[in-house]
Amino acid sequence: MSRRTAAKPAAQPTTCPCGLSAAYADCCGKLHRGLAQAATAEQLMRSRYSAFAVRDIAYLLRSWHPDTRPAELDLDPGLSWERLEILGSTEGGPFHTAGTVEFRAHFRERGRSGSLHENSRFVRHDGAWVYLDGDHSED
Ligand SMILES: [Zn+2]
Repeated sequence: MSRRTAAKPAAQPTTCPCGLSAAYADCCGKLHRGLAQAATAEQLMRSRYSAFAVRDIAYLLRSWHPDTRPAELDLDPGLSWERLEILGSTEGGPFHTAGTVEFRAHFRERGRSGSLHENSRFVRHDGAWVYLDGDHSED
């Protein structure tokens, strides 16, 4: 494990970073703690964004398809995730086995604002939604 992944996790936020009005503990926090599973690809996407925000690397790795999952994940300690916008989605519902979610994630990096625009692909793996891959651009 690298020095950067050993950094202390960020303090747990009260409202959920994913943008829904629920408290973190009742929203993505439940998925991070393994108390609930994402019913839709969009819910998984929100929970993964929140996991980036709270630096839950273990959740990011276990919600990643084993075929595309990196061996380890480094999160930039100088980057903080500020806001998530869901722009659209296809399929990814309770009765689907695949889906896509298009989003824009806003961040701050050393005083500079930026955003990441991605169209992510999700599939079910052993019944649970996981992240497969995505096409992204920084804009
Ligand atoms: Zn949430």
